Amino acid sequence: MESQSIPLIEHFINGRKVASSSSRSQEVFNPATGEVSAYVGLANEEQVHTAVAAAQAVAPAWAETAPLKRARVLFKFKELMEKHHDALAAAITREHGKVFSDAKGEVVRGLEIVEFACAAPQLLKTQFSDNIGGGIDNWQLRQPLGVTVGITPFNFPVMVPLWMAPMAIVTGNTFILKPSERDPSPSLMLAELFNEAGLPDGVFNVVQGDKTAVDALLQHPDVKAVSFVGSTPIAEYIYAEGSKRKGTYPMRVQALGGAKNHLVVMPDADLDQAVDALVGAAYGSAGERCMAISVAVAVGNVADRLVDALAPRVKALKVGNGMQAENEMGPVVSSAHKAKIEAYIEEGVQAGARLLVDGRGLRVPGHEKGFFLGGSLFDCVMPAMKIYREEIFGPVLCVVRVDDLAQAVDLINAHEYGNGVSLFTSDGHTAREFSRQVQVGMVGINVPIPVPMAWHSFGGWKRSLFGDTHAYGEEGVRFYTRYKSIMQRWPESIAKGAEFTMPVAK
Ligand code: NAD
Repeated sequence: MESQSIPLIEHFINGRKVASSSSRSQEVFNPATGEVSAYVGLANEEQVHTAVAAAQAVAPAWAETAPLKRARVLFKFKELMEKHHDALAAAITREHGKVFSDAKGEVVRGLEIVEFACAAPQLLKTQFSDNIGGGIDNWQLRQPLGVTVGITPFNFPVMVPLWMAPMAIVTGNTFILKPSERDPSPSLMLAELFNEAGLPDGVFNVVQGDKTAVDALLQHPDVKAVSFVGSTPIAEYIYAEGSKRKGTYPMRVQALGGAKNHLVVMPDADLDQAVDALVGAAYGSAGERCMAISVAVAVGNVADRLVDALAPRVKALKVGNGMQAENEMGPVVSSAHKAKIEAYIEEGVQAGARLLVDGRGLRVPGHEKGFFLGGSLFDCVMPAMKIYREEIFGPVLCVVRVDDLAQAVDLINAHEYGNGVSLFTSDGHTAREFSRQVQVGMVGINVPIPVPMAWHSFGGWKRSLFGDTHAYGEEGVRFYTRYKSIMQRWPESIAKGAEFTMPVAK
């Protein structure tokens, strides 16, 4: 039931906010206070169809708009994002809970994709072969697909939509965003900024919702591509459903899933640097990052020194409301998620791992109803334990002890996920071997969170990504365009008579 005084977050279709026509809605919380800050309308099938129709109607005209003109809209959008940087970050903190400085960083990482996408005329430039034979020239086009969809997770409500939308739009597609229902407000702010930047109505739309909206988008024959980011079970579902859609024009799908990222500490690593890296990468954003480090792999005799240095740092973490500048870690996203993380901690204790720091039961004065957890640290975690195998997605770091680098690599390669990994060492050969042997999509050497820049591409291996292309960068251009090869000659070059042999260069 909705209260009159609490706002209802709407959809954004065809250039304007649209009230939800479905009777279903869901509570949106401020995780720091535990209070309901809004309700979000959950779209029904009919509303999804309205959004697709709006995106489809404008698709031909937008595809015909010159890439430079499309890029100019993004230049303007970039300026507006910079102007509203603080407001966007505050909206993230309000609904996600991460600390404001981290939310500002998220906006910057999203902006970088916008900046990259502004190079559309260059990115869409293709190759030309003069005179491949018989007066024929051969070149390529990269043409837009039409209506494309992005389905995004709660943990980066600005950055992840911006991995997709700028790339889709600047390459000439229209786009429908289905953001997480847990932090839906930033999506509408992005929609309004696109609108103000001069993007034609219908090119960027937002449909709020849950599985009903996702299924309606997946089944709609006019949707040509779906880019998904979220947990692995849903990624697998989206990939399977999208890939099996029949028709003359199969749906293109990329689905980025969950993670369990390891950071290996070699005995020759600078221990202070490794500890700083682990504390930031495991507990930043309360561990709710797909590139968060959740396993520290201690190699050889470094293990005791590592846990001795880590434990006091984890105990000393400053946890509280993300809008207060002194805090290093905010709450987790929901009370249900908090309970799930607590259950994992209990599971680890029961399985025999050593809980060196227990983050449960933390009380934040003045925020007693907030979804807070302190940092937790486990030592002597074994690969068979659930806390090692599964993604916890919270402020819990597991230390696994191994004898040497080969064991560390085997451990990581045996894990079902392969999103990010990091190695701390001062030895070049160790780093080189590790980078080449590890079966993970993004590797950091003395870099704890190796999120590629906008002009590279983002994506994991194994059950962290379903589909062939990674997100944004040149892979993003490929995902959002279809390749066409054109051969052309003029009557003056055509010899008389039909040819019955396979054409070859003459
Ligand atoms: P989630 O899978 O629960 O939700 C992601 C999206 O899917 C949301 O928009 C949600 O509404 C929708 N969804 C949820 N259940 C669905 C269902 N049954 N059918 C259809 N759609 C459904 O993920 P989350 O909890 O929002 O985000 C955290 C997860 O995302 C973690 O597993 C994290 O590792 C992952 N993630 C991965 C990356 C990456 O790049 N690989 C980046 C960010 C987050």
